[in-house]
Amino acid sequence: MNSSISAVQARRPFDPAYDPLHAPHPGHGKEYAPTYWIATAGTPPEDDGPVSADMDVDVAVIGSGYTGLSCAIHLARDHGIKATVLEANGVAWGCSTRNGGQAQLSSGRLKRSQWIERWGVDVAKKLHVEIVEAFDLFRDLIRAPEIDCDPQDGGHLYIAHRDKVMPVLAKEVDLLNRVFGYKAKLVSRAEVHADYVHDAEAQGAMFEPDGMSIHAAKLAFGYLKLARKLGAKVHTSSPVTQCIRDKQGFRLVTPGGIVRARAVCFATAGYTSPGLHPLTRHRLMPILSNSLVTRPLTASEREGLNFRTMIPLTDTRTLRHYYRLLPDNRVQIGSRSAITGRDAANRKHYDLLLAGLHRKFPALRDIQVDYSWWGWVDVSHDMMPRIFQPDPAQQLFYAMGYGGNGVMYSAQAGRRLAQLVAGKGGELDLPIFTSALPGHGPLTPFRRLGQWGMYRWYYLKDEVL
Ligand SMILES: Cc1cc2nc3c(=O)[nH]c(=O)nc-3n(C[C@H](O)[C@H](O)[C@H](O)COP(=O)(O)OP(=O)(O)OC[C@H]3O[C@@H](n4cnc5c(N)ncnc54)[C@H](O)[C@@H]3O)c2cc1C
Repeated sequence: MNSSISAVQARRPFDPAYDPLHAPHPGHGKEYAPTYWIATAGTPPEDDGPVSADMDVDVAVIGSGYTGLSCAIHLARDHGIKATVLEANGVAWGCSTRNGGQAQLSSGRLKRSQWIERWGVDVAKKLHVEIVEAFDLFRDLIRAPEIDCDPQDGGHLYIAHRDKVMPVLAKEVDLLNRVFGYKAKLVSRAEVHADYVHDAEAQGAMFEPDGMSIHAAKLAFGYLKLARKLGAKVHTSSPVTQCIRDKQGFRLVTPGGIVRARAVCFATAGYTSPGLHPLTRHRLMPILSNSLVTRPLTASEREGLNFRTMIPLTDTRTLRHYYRLLPDNRVQIGSRSAITGRDAANRKHYDLLLAGLHRKFPALRDIQVDYSWWGWVDVSHDMMPRIFQPDPAQQLFYAMGYGGNGVMYSAQAGRRLAQLVAGKGGELDLPIFTSALPGHGPLTPFRRLGQWGMYRWYYLKDEVL
């Protein structure tokens, strides 16, 4: 089966109001979101087309984003298991073709100081080793000839958007060096402006030596090529509408046939429908993030902003902005968006993001925006991901909950997921491998109300107090 067949299948229109809390699944062969990445990645490589008959497989992976594809790659490469990946729409239709393309040294939303508060210094140090190893794996993986994702490796700049944040950054830099032996450094406002970019808000920054910008869709398509080369099957336009346990394992119901599998991996992230399985139901809070890309800057505009870097930039707001210069001289920026899918296309969220761009770069006040889109980020209740087998009696596994930091870590999460499936997870003793994603308990029906309140509080904390 080739890509032209699945491209024909993937013609159902994109639904801008899709909301994972209310939809039974993310769709069936829907068009991609109108992203810069999809517009510039070229024709998607071949996949295995939709499931068209009942089939028996060993391991099924639901979701073909970075996590699902990395799991398939590592199952094949490290354990000789040729997985079958099932994707509702086109390959990597979810966050993996919508993100900011920022690979950072993190696996969830928490900082190292917060790891220590939560688990103590010994666990925090082991977790640091895990993410450093993850970055090495990521760098190694993208060297494969199948993966050509325009990497710009050179670090990450965490930019203080207000003066009062600088002491907090100074403390984190000290902790990173002293406790973790990690060579982060504090950068002054003048240095940010002279060496990186003239961001009008920047009051200084923390520089982390690990950080890389990549092309989001080219990365996903590269993973697809590698996974298939290693023997995995990737079926697109095949939403799993039910996951039923039986004596042999699981029956995954798709519109084209039933896939019977010994083991099943959920790599569905922020697109996990509550009805898909009780063990993943309401274990994540899907949060919308908006992104936009300007027209290419002229040479004099770029010079005027002194934009000297293409590494990932983020600011210190709780609902941070993530931004950077793209290789074709466009500026990309993203941040928080609506709370519900129904409100996602409301112009006020786009205007809010545009205002963020203008605050940083007043000279771009009139610049044309060529691309705008959004996606559902998989935020876990305690801000950290899990790669876990939630019930030892079932060959069911999941990896999700990166909270907007999954571009890099999903490669390692897929590898860890493969280890669990292959029964080689004995060494995995960090809390992200040994506990389930926390649920929201009786607060579940009120989560979005809570989110609304939190957004207001974050605004006060970040901009006013
Ligand atoms: C706007 C935006 C900006 C972001 N920016 C960054 C960034 O700069 N850096 C960073 O580290 N992270 C970022 N992220 C997060 C990052 O993109 C994700 O962590 C990462 O892509 C997660 O990959 P994944 O494979 O786990 O999930 P996804 O890529 O979301 O894949 C899940 C897939 O599962 C499929 N699926 C769901 N249910 C079913 C079903 N029932 N049947 C079949 N298929 C199903 C979906 O269609 C989807 O394709 C951003 C996210 C968004 C939305």
